[in-house]
Amino acid sequence: MSDGSDSAAAAPWRATVLTLYPEMFPGPLGLSLSGDALARGAWCLEPRQIREHGLGRHRNVDDTPAGGGAGMVLRCDVLGPAIDAASPEGDLRPRLLMSPRGKPLTQARVRALSEGLGAVIVCGRFEGVDERVIEGRGLEEVSIGDYILSGGEIGALVLIDACVRLLPGVMGKHESGVEESFEGGLLEYPHYTRPREWEGRAIPDVLMGGNHAAIARWRHEQSLVLTRARRPDLLAEEAP
Ligand code: SAH
Repeated sequence: MSDGSDSAAAAPWRATVLTLYPEMFPGPLGLSLSGDALARGAWCLEPRQIREHGLGRHRNVDDTPAGGGAGMVLRCDVLGPAIDAASPEGDLRPRLLMSPRGKPLTQARVRALSEGLGAVIVCGRFEGVDERVIEGRGLEEVSIGDYILSGGEIGALVLIDACVRLLPGVMGKHESGVEESFEGGLLEYPHYTRPREWEGRAIPDVLMGGNHAAIARWRHEQSLVLTRARRPDLLAEEAP
């Protein structure tokens, strides 16, 4: 199929995930749009077992927190070499650490990541990771919301899913990417489909009238009303 003109085509978007549970991948990303795209090589997924860099006969990866307290902490002398092996010098992908202390993930960040080469994603477990590896390997902490998960894997799946659906050719319809909640700083307007009436509730007349300008106006108004009611913070962000 290649005629040479695409021989310089960029390598596919690539996610490398460092985890103690590589069996969790691709998991749900192996199905539906992301799974089809993965199968045809539109993106790559490389889960890597942190324990391969574990210490001693038991391949230990964690130890008790300095200063005392509950739980265990992932060791920097395990994670450091694991990151170096997964992402050698010259790998220009951003290095992310899933972390509730991180900057909350946004659609803007997701879009920027999807336009890059991919990501190296470290999944924490237990109480978290030794602070020195965050500093020493320049990890950017990313949160998927203000709640605590038991590990970074589900967060990594969320982040990768959000990025992959934006890759060229992954979503069926190009427009589905740009008309969605958050893309225009607003929540999306309500959707309807057949039947025209259900349990006494009708589809709003404007949507059945075929006047495209009126439909666009109605949808925009609905978006504004919903955003004002549910997420006024998004409207505040728009102001300079
Ligand atoms: N003791 C930590 C929480 C550890 S939870 C604290 O209070 O901040 C264990 C791991 O799950 C974390 O290292 C992180 O990788 C992941 N994790 C938990 N909640 C997360 C969230 N909201 N977003 C992203 N990753 C999260």
